[in-house]
Amino acid sequence: MAFESFGTMRVNEVGHLEIGGVDTLKLAQKYGTPLYVYDVALIKERARGFKKTFEELGVKAQVAYASKAFSTVAIYQLMHEEGLSLDVVSGGELFTAMKADFPAERIHFHGNNKTRQELEMAIDYGIGCVVIDNFYEIELLADVLQEKGARMAVLIRVTPGIEAHTHDYILTGQDDSKFGFGLTNGQAEEAIRRVMANEAFQLIGLHCHIGSQIFETTGFKLAAHRIMEQLVVWRDSLDFHAEVLNLGGGFGVRYTADDQPLPPSEYVRAIIADVREVAQDNALAMPEIWIEPGRSLVGEAGTTLYTIGSRKEVPEIRKFVAVDGGMSDNIRPSLYEAKYDAVIASRPLEEPDETVAIAGKCCESGDMLIWDLPLPKSDAGEVLAVFCTGAYGYSMANNYNRIPRAAVVFVENGEDRLVVQRESYENLVQLDLPLY
Ligand SMILES: *Cc1c(COP(=O)(O)O)cnc(C)c1O
Repeated sequence: MAFESFGTMRVNEVGHLEIGGVDTLKLAQKYGTPLYVYDVALIKERARGFKKTFEELGVKAQVAYASKAFSTVAIYQLMHEEGLSLDVVSGGELFTAMKADFPAERIHFHGNNKTRQELEMAIDYGIGCVVIDNFYEIELLADVLQEKGARMAVLIRVTPGIEAHTHDYILTGQDDSKFGFGLTNGQAEEAIRRVMANEAFQLIGLHCHIGSQIFETTGFKLAAHRIMEQLVVWRDSLDFHAEVLNLGGGFGVRYTADDQPLPPSEYVRAIIADVREVAQDNALAMPEIWIEPGRSLVGEAGTTLYTIGSRKEVPEIRKFVAVDGGMSDNIRPSLYEAKYDAVIASRPLEEPDETVAIAGKCCESGDMLIWDLPLPKSDAGEVLAVFCTGAYGYSMANNYNRIPRAAVVFVENGEDRLVVQRESYENLVQLDLPLY
């Protein structure tokens, strides 16, 4: 590939790939591979960019990090330092947030099947709000709140009937979705009625998330427009006044040169323009706008380092170059045919002289990281750096083939800091109970 750098990435004096002022070959040597490396300065830049855009527009807002993209204590601490809020989707993510001392009132709880135990945990921790997804959850949450004599601020998740241009598996705002209440089929209205009728709830607004890896503003604008127009109707018919309109995440990032995302601020500006227009035309109070970026905060900031091992050439068909990781640390190519770019870390600028397929080491033919990568002729032992692996890499990591999960290191201003240790073989068997 033509080397296009993200964030603080550069080629240093000795010609190696450097991130956060640290030579990636040194990182590979110090921590081993596979290794996830995060450019902290780039994460901060993104977080500040979103916040600044809202400030410039004079709109009250919350930027919540959709933490399913990369959930660890250290990233939660960093997002807290940056003044962001946090989305969690499970008891495990909530527990991680508690371990990071993340302020409870800025945590929002999502999910289409939250358990009683998870809801109890959320209430006990005193989180900011629950995003109600379905009728079953209205009953369940009401029951748990009544039992505890507590109240909870809630958002109702609606599906506005928008089809965003993205992979089908990560498209969620259409009518035929497992998430949320349909805006057009009457279910959202019914949910609002039931929630408003119950003292245990404080209904603060609506939520929608139309999908992920979206490159256009059209879908966001349409969704915002439809919901705002509906809010005008419900103000008049139900006396429902939404203080908050949460428009979700899904802002696209650049995995390869084929991806041309807009600057994050452009999405925000486009959404706000539409919301403002409907609000002004209908004398509706401007709601506080919440967004939930995941990938666009951490995706491009992450790079995975691997060590190259075996090579297999199938004459006239393909050259396979295998690395010491694969679907165990990045399942996205196997799961969604996701595309990535990579370079050899010791010579990122060298002209490619062959096209290779980067294979993982798992016993699965579909365990491929990149199918067609132009690369200089590589040798075993060299380090391959795969870009834009910061979102849904570590968080989807698994122990298939009992491969230990990789370590995570943060780099910034020439310093490296281990934030997740590499799993050991002992870790792998620690929950196993022997028969004798
Ligand atoms: C996954 C998800 C997000 C984040 O999506 P990204 O593509 O990572 O920005 C935000 N909100 C909700 C409800 C989600 O499910």
